[in-house]
Amino acid sequence: MPLLGLGVFRSPAGEVTRSAVRTALEFGYRMIDTARIYCNEKSVGRGIKDSLVDRKDIVVTTKLWKTDFDDPRRGLENSLERLGLDYVDLYLLHWPFKGYCQAYLALEQLQKEGLCKAIGVSNFKIHHLQELQKAGASVIPQVNQVECHPYNAENELLNYCRQQNIVLEAYSPLGGEGNSLLSDPRIVSLADYYKVSPAQLILRWNMQRGVVVIPKSVRPQRILENSQLFNFELTMDDMDTIGDVNANVRRAYDSDFIDQRPESTFPKIIEED
Ligand code: NDP
Repeated sequence: MPLLGLGVFRSPAGEVTRSAVRTALEFGYRMIDTARIYCNEKSVGRGIKDSLVDRKDIVVTTKLWKTDFDDPRRGLENSLERLGLDYVDLYLLHWPFKGYCQAYLALEQLQKEGLCKAIGVSNFKIHHLQELQKAGASVIPQVNQVECHPYNAENELLNYCRQQNIVLEAYSPLGGEGNSLLSDPRIVSLADYYKVSPAQLILRWNMQRGVVVIPKSVRPQRILENSQLFNFELTMDDMDTIGDVNANVRRAYDSDFIDQRPESTFPKIIEED
């Protein structure tokens, strides 16, 4: 699994997403992270086709939304149709909505049939992962995708995932849209020292911890910038300095209460042309 991918949450359907995906692939990205609820799977599929990169060299992730928890096969088949693909490389349960254990067991079957190469989860805490085991899951989730950046380092979850051979994948690795993390003086001064941007510094920090990052941008210059992470290395001391910024502050909804989240606060599903 690549350590870097392009995220497309809030990347508008149509030309914007199509072009961001094509641009990223041309700049060397080999992983794209979408979801049913982002309502841009068709645009992602078109961007993949526009690029000259071989399908088999691209890791495509999408996610099962709660409206398909009663029938994950329908959810995945519809996603595949929108993407214009025969399989996805990684299929994630988007949140631990009610019934997540049953839904996960259904993903195991879809993986056996080759509709998804790997399966995993997102927004799972340690106890959610343990529930899957108790429910008789035979496949360990290959990935747990959670909000993770210097303000929310997820150290305990990362240690647990390492022990269990689960890849931790950081969503909102830049802190998410509108976050002040990129202008935090502690981050900015260290970035200046390394002669990199604050975004590059914190993406590199996660990568050096073995955490996969999927920054989102629709701007070619930033898509390129966010991929230039392999020509510098942080010292252990500087890894710790960034680690000290942690405040266990998460912006996303608390997954323990996801079923109580008011319906009106979820994105609406809008079909693409
Ligand atoms: P990110 O942390 O990736 O931040 C994205 C924001 O940062 C956008 O506003 C973007 O603007 C801006 N940005 C990107 N690059 C730079 C840069 N180099 N310098 C300054 N600003 C920059 O947030 P996301 O919440 O989008 O998370 C990334 C991905 O993770 C999502 O796109 C999605 O794929 C996934 N995700 C998964 C969730 C889940 O529940 N599983 C939840 C949330 C996200 P612009 O586009 O204008 O450049």
